[in-house]
Amino acid sequence: MVNLKYKCMKCGTCCSIPKDIEGNYIKRIPLYPEEVNKLIDIARERGIPLKVKEDLVFPDILNKKILVLTYRFILENSGYCIFHDPIVGCTIHENKPLSCQAYPLAIKRIDAFNLEISIDPLCNWIEKNYEKLKQLNLQNIKEIFSEEYENAITFLRKNKNLQLKIKKLEVEKKIKISRQISLDDFNRFLKEWDRIEIITKESQK
Ligand code: SF4
Ligand code: SF4
Repeated sequence: MVNLKYKCMKCGTCCSIPKDIEGNYIKRIPLYPEEVNKLIDIARERGIPLKVKEDLVFPDILNKKILVLTYRFILENSGYCIFHDPIVGCTIHENKPLSCQAYPLAIKRIDAFNLEISIDPLCNWIEKNYEKLKQLNLQNIKEIFSEEYENAITFLRKNKNLQLKIKKLEVEKKIKISRQISLDDFNRFLKEWDRIEIITKESQK
């Protein structure tokens, strides 16, 4: 049993996305399409602008469509999420996306088809407890981040369901995903082709 339990310090650091010296965001907050729809509704009710960008996409060269699996926030000006308040923190706690519910466990992309759970060193609680955390095993991590670990697993399960749906559509020859595509072609397809969001019944749970 580990004598350590994660407790968010409500510093708000994770609700902003820092940029590197070239101006590129150094982390992403991935969002599933159904989460984006919910966030759009909340933002509309509050009269605040929400900007998101496609994140994980596949080109379907059979139907000439871009299949969208996830989006991510675009944060402007302050660099803070539009739902962040400096005094109360997240103002959509009950509706925040799974990736925020899992944080400071972060979903790291290994490649287009594989994700893994990691601990985000940018979280202030992690930084504060880093020396203790680096000696721990997976079971300890599950205990320390019990709620966040469950949410991270739910995120991964949703992603797996979407990947399975894509594979099934490929096997049924309803789509064709190109695994070898030049960057020029990919960028051209992104410009020219319509989008289709990939959602499964299970992914909405
Ligand atoms: S949705 Fe909430 S927790 Fe997630 S980045 Fe925005 S303010 Fe932070
Ligand atoms: S950076 Fe870590 S401690 Fe700070 S608000 Fe985010 S999760 Fe909580």
